[in-house]
Amino acid sequence: MTASYLAMDSGILQERIERSLELLMSCRLCPRQCGVDRFAGEKGYCRTGRFAEVASYGPHFGEEQVLVGTRGSGTIFFCGCNLLCNFCQNYEISRVSDPDCQPVSDEKLAAIMVELQEAGCHNINFVTPTHVMPQILAALPHAIRAGLRVPLVYNCGGYERVESLQLLDRIVDIYMPDTKFWDSRSGLRYANAPDYPEKMKAALAEIQRQVGDLRLDAQGLAEQGLLVRHLLMPGGLAEGRAIFHFLAKEISPNCYVNIMDQYRPCGEAALGGEGGGMIESTMYNQAIRAAKSAGLSRLDQRDLAELIRRLMAR
Ligand code: SF4
Repeated sequence: MTASYLAMDSGILQERIERSLELLMSCRLCPRQCGVDRFAGEKGYCRTGRFAEVASYGPHFGEEQVLVGTRGSGTIFFCGCNLLCNFCQNYEISRVSDPDCQPVSDEKLAAIMVELQEAGCHNINFVTPTHVMPQILAALPHAIRAGLRVPLVYNCGGYERVESLQLLDRIVDIYMPDTKFWDSRSGLRYANAPDYPEKMKAALAEIQRQVGDLRLDAQGLAEQGLLVRHLLMPGGLAEGRAIFHFLAKEISPNCYVNIMDQYRPCGEAALGGEGGGMIESTMYNQAIRAAKSAGLSRLDQRDLAELIRRLMAR
């Protein structure tokens, strides 16, 4: 399948770029709606100005198998974040305090994308892209001219504005949002975002409208669609149940979901803040049962033997 952005009229893509860049002038890219002028160097909640900052990039084999295939998912880790969870595993990167965080021009970002494709990656996987969506769009024409053709993965936190997502319609093929919190009290406690559940639900509805259920090619690689992640949180099984029910009933019973059990407190959570516990050992199996009972059947299974076989075949 051809990546959607290759079929987009260049005039429409240019219009999307201009509309998205306008959002930076009094920034309202995400639900925080900080109102800062990022062109003038002002920074809002995400701590990012006009240019995206990249901490690292490369082929990644730790993502879902449907993205990794045999040659890896081409991940680009952006610095800054519009959510800033207190337990973040990439705490320094999300706070832009990591010395590796470096501003990149649109042309440099395009060159990174093409480099990842030339390294054999099956897709370009933007990790934490919400606050740099216009920069990604602005880089895309440069990347297309340099031969980019693999699909784009929008690997976001789920705290999105529908108006911003609409600018990505027919450009992004694979969306991979988190579904972190169902209870607004959790959104407040962990990320100072009590409106997280409401924004996440609206975002998933828009994403499903754009790309639908996840579709795989003959090799089992993701071509297009929605892949949802849910990280199990200490004491969070009831919220997980509600999220699974929402996904099955209001998004699609064929929604592809990765339930993740690797929670460990980092950042403020590791220093005695909220979220300092670990998840219970029985929680993963309970969550899988809850997801199936809600009506979900496409649950991501990390098959280690298959991953090793594919890596050996490279
Ligand atoms: S993208 Fe950053 S500056 Fe813009 S509204 Fe969101 S958090 Fe604020």
